[in-house]
Amino acid sequence: MSEERFIGYFRLVEACAEPGCPVCRCVTHESRSYLDSLLYEQVTDPGTRRVIRAAWGFCNWHTWLLLEIGSSRFGAAIIYDDLVRLALSRTERLAARAGQSRGRRWLRALFGGARRPGVMDLYRARAACPACVHAADSERRYLDTIVKFIDDGDLQAGYARSDGLCVPHLFAALEGNPERHEARMLVDRTRAKWAGIGRDIGSFVAKHDYRNREPYTAEETASYTRAFEMFAGAKSVFGNDVHAPSSTRRASRHSMSPVKPATSAGDSRAPSRPVGEDVS
Ligand SMILES: [Zn+2]
Ligand SMILES: [Zn+2]
Repeated sequence: MSEERFIGYFRLVEACAEPGCPVCRCVTHESRSYLDSLLYEQVTDPGTRRVIRAAWGFCNWHTWLLLEIGSSRFGAAIIYDDLVRLALSRTERLAARAGQSRGRRWLRALFGGARRPGVMDLYRARAACPACVHAADSERRYLDTIVKFIDDGDLQAGYARSDGLCVPHLFAALEGNPERHEARMLVDRTRAKWAGIGRDIGSFVAKHDYRNREPYTAEETASYTRAFEMFAGAKSVFGNDVHAPSSTRRASRHSMSPVKPATSAGDSRAPSRPVGEDVS
């Protein structure tokens, strides 16, 4: 086991003791550490500045994560002082000047011409968020580690106590390691974890009846947030579809019924099809 895998292995084991997907926990942890060391040690480093400038700052997730890095405000302010000046200088050609008509020159400044790219081209071609590049690299290592060592001592025991991988991380793990026999083990063990979430959410729903006098267990109370994470991954780790390229943003071929206001007559919350029926 190499040193790198060794460290990742024990981070994964620790993450298994936390609620939710262990790889989501590790990726979030890596992102925090990356930003933490950047804000404390590399804020004035010219190479770091260049990378952040090329990306026009951090992505939405990592920008707001800066607020969660303890006493980082000054370091973040230094970075953003530079970025604000940069945005003003990059958009300077778009500024209205006295006696200058906007027209074609303005559009060229925005969209570019034959000889010079416009500011929109520069923005669209911006580099990836450096914290995301780091997170993606570490995510791949954690996914490979979980597949390779799923049957290995502490990780096996830790995984048995965890909530299991989220759906997007299970598929990402399989995609990178389709030939390994441990991949099938990971699927079986993850499905067992998902079945546990299913049992808890099922009994949470069943107890939601006015005749019920039985208290909810802690697992049942947390069941729907565990199910949220199971499908979507931890908050912010995966993007949304609002700004996905239109080639990948396909609407469902199924139509949705218009949402009706709840009425007191009849059981408006009763499912319109038997539970478990596949709609596809
Ligand atoms: Zn995950
Ligand atoms: Zn990012």
